[in-house]
Amino acid sequence: MIDKLADADEPISLEPMNKFPIVRDLIVDRSRLFNDLKRVKAWIPIDGTYELGPGPSLTQREQERLYPLSRCTGCGCCLEACPQYTQTNKFVGAAVISQARLFNAHPVGAN
Ligand code: SF4
Repeated sequence: MIDKLADADEPISLEPMNKFPIVRDLIVDRSRLFNDLKRVKAWIPIDGTYELGPGPSLTQREQERLYPLSRCTGCGCCLEACPQYTQTNKFVGAAVISQARLFNAHPVGAN
């Protein structure tokens, strides 16, 4: 990666994401994203106070269908690119919607 950056023909600017409040330098506060995940209940509190058990089995086909949704890391890049997601509105954006879809499609979320 460093070699590729050094070989770049044009200057590369590093800027903080502009959809989240800046904490310092390139650090932003993405707590809105995590609060929105909690708001739509796309969040499982794991505090060790109760036995979660093995959970229901998924067929191979269900696993393959849901796996892409489970890969969201909460990076916020989709929100950064989305013109509908702003610092002043309440739209939750693609990351939260995809996690709501994942939880609604999963047998645990269906109960
Ligand atoms: S859905 Fe959005 S937040 Fe999740 S990994 Fe993709 S770009 Fe990042």
